Amino acid sequence: MATAATVSTLVVGAGQAGISLVTALRELGDTGPVVLVGAEPEPPYERPPLSKSYLRGEHDRGSLVFHDAAWFADLGVELVTGDPVVTIGRDASGGSATTASGRTLTFERLALTTGAVNRGLGVEGADLDGVHSVRTLADADRLAPRLRAAREVVVVGGGFIGLEIAAGARALGSDVSVVEATDRLLGRAVTPVLSDAVLQAHERRGTRILLRSHAVRLTGEHGRVTSVQLDDGTELPADLVVVGIGAAPSTALAAQLGLLVEPRGIVVDEYALTSDGVTVAAGDCAVGPNPFDRGEPGTMRLESVPHATDQARAAAATLVGHPTAYDRVPWFWSDQGDLRLQMAGLPHGADRTVVRGDVAAERFSLLSYRDGLLIAVESVGVPTDYLAVKRALEKGMTIEADSAADTSVPLKRLITRARGTRTS
Ligand SMILES: Cc1cc2nc3c(=O)[nH]c(=O)nc-3n(C[C@H](O)[C@H](O)[C@H](O)COP(=O)(O)OP(=O)(O)OC[C@H]3O[C@@H](n4cnc5c(N)ncnc54)[C@H](O)[C@@H]3O)c2cc1C
Repeated sequence: MATAATVSTLVVGAGQAGISLVTALRELGDTGPVVLVGAEPEPPYERPPLSKSYLRGEHDRGSLVFHDAAWFADLGVELVTGDPVVTIGRDASGGSATTASGRTLTFERLALTTGAVNRGLGVEGADLDGVHSVRTLADADRLAPRLRAAREVVVVGGGFIGLEIAAGARALGSDVSVVEATDRLLGRAVTPVLSDAVLQAHERRGTRILLRSHAVRLTGEHGRVTSVQLDDGTELPADLVVVGIGAAPSTALAAQLGLLVEPRGIVVDEYALTSDGVTVAAGDCAVGPNPFDRGEPGTMRLESVPHATDQARAAAATLVGHPTAYDRVPWFWSDQGDLRLQMAGLPHGADRTVVRGDVAAERFSLLSYRDGLLIAVESVGVPTDYLAVKRALEKGMTIEADSAADTSVPLKRLITRARGTRTS
């Protein structure tokens, strides 16, 4: 399929993983022509501030953008914006893609970094004016002025993004309620102790948290949302509703290519290689083996900047013919107003969690263990603890659970060689 005008590498999806992948290609010495195609009108930008400082007006749009046009020119990367790839096909040696504007791009190597889209609420009234969600800069631009003017905000979904927006709304003086369907906040990602501590921290700041509650209907007047009705009959007045109930991976192009796709994403191996053995995929669109050797066995999809960056690097290494397994310790952060959460490792399957510090004072760390082996840390307001455990995990070391609670000894002094065997 390849022709003389064929680019070496086509990267579809100009977000965190896409920009990391093209950067890594050049760092790995690849000099062939690269085209990076994005659906959004902006050049690649960072998403984390969109639910945090950007909503508070602390950034101008330009400061979120990773690189200017000169950077792309220097790297020999052609950036296409606002023109999504809509059809794609390939064989083992290359293929061709068509964008929405009708442009044809032929390629030798292909990377899919298409990210994810927010899940819709799917209840009556979800399309009313005043109902928002945030994934893109355009979403945040629409929400920011509404958030500043809102009096009664209902956030549907007690995950990271929902809680970050709730904290921002509360800091701006709104009356804020968070509606969460399960029995705890951040339930998919953190330990129950942290869920409870986060709930108390938000309640201390005046946010109302409703667990085990489903939004079943949104009502409005003159097309504008006025309230959220819950499954127990409660009616929450709202002039602004923010929906943060998770994201679905963008897998349509992978399906066109006949790649193995699960509901959680495009299936990749530890080298970010998809089922056809030549296309790579990375970031929010992909599901792959747990990269953490102390994690639970099985596949997982992580939605985080470090994961997208590291998996994209593995994808670039695969494309240039030097496959390197992606096996980094996962780490995350979430700024919820003045509350900073930092996490490393994965606490799933923990059989013991040691509390170190003062939970009520919002200065504490939770160290999780499975079979006596340290598997994760969650810190609030103690970055030194977080860093010490992250480094210990990266070096294959541990911290004895029985000594971890003693705050008179810095955690970094308690790091020891791991006696336990790998449990994965
Ligand atoms: C509001 C918000 C706050 C977040 N905060 C944090 C945080 O604090 N810490 C953290 O670690 N992570 C955070 N994340 C998660 C993190 O931003 C994502 O995990 C990361 O951006 C994933 O990178 P990605 O490249 O896979 O996807 P994205 O960055 O979403 O990029 C994918 C891009 O592909 C484009 N695309 C899709 N289909 C096509 C197509 N057919 N043609 C061309 N382009 C296409 C999309 O438009 C998108 O621009 C946050 C995410 C959001 C939305």
